[in-house]
Amino acid sequence: MGGTIKKEALNDGEDGWSFRASNGKYKICVNCNQNGKRQRFTVCHEVAHVVLDIAPDHSQPSWSFGKRPQGEILCDTFAAELLLPYKLFKPQVDMAEMGMAAVGTLADDFDASLLATGSRFAAFSKNLCAFVVSEGGKVRYSARSSSLREAKGWIRPGSLLPNGSYSARARSGEKPSGPEEAEADEWFDDWNRDGGLFEDVLHVEQWDQTLTLLWFEEDDAPPPRIERKQWEEQTYGLRELDGNLPWPGRRKRR
Ligand SMILES: [Zn+2]
Repeated sequence: MGGTIKKEALNDGEDGWSFRASNGKYKICVNCNQNGKRQRFTVCHEVAHVVLDIAPDHSQPSWSFGKRPQGEILCDTFAAELLLPYKLFKPQVDMAEMGMAAVGTLADDFDASLLATGSRFAAFSKNLCAFVVSEGGKVRYSARSSSLREAKGWIRPGSLLPNGSYSARARSGEKPSGPEEAEADEWFDDWNRDGGLFEDVLHVEQWDQTLTLLWFEEDDAPPPRIERKQWEEQTYGLRELDGNLPWPGRRKRR
């Protein structure tokens, strides 16, 4: 891009912005009041606006996930891919021991925020896994692995942290000490599968933010018996769009 980065004290809640100077070069301005990891994410987000040619819409604060415009979500996704590239990050996730400790280590290794790292960690996990971000004791957002999405494991945004859960206790001051067993039906809507759920948590007092990692041990949650119609759809119907074309096949053709 040939751009330059400028650090400036911006308003609270403002991450950064960019513009194209008259010489055609880009200038990216980041809020120096935010920590280095957040600033890196902001820079990548601004790069995304240029590369994807998406006009910024920063009228909503970046933390309001629900109201975030589509273009901003796409730029966030681009930024996460730039900071935590699938090719480098996925093998680390596969090797990691499940838990918040691994998320913390990877966040440091990749110099990315816990939030971005945790979300990608869950999304790429082989396990049924979710990374839940709560604020003020209320679920704001969760990222899920593809197997958990397939299993219809859904955590309702806006719901309260389950009473007495590890996460709720961490929020009220208990010091977390590694993963604990958890109640799946307290976390997931309409959950009726077997298998043991584990929970690990990190509470950030400063913003009353609770980060929760939930996962089932591999092969611990057997797939539910699916209805014939559903089976037929899955077998013969259109598969979900994932951006990978089913042709010309995996092997490269010249
Ligand atoms: Zn933006």
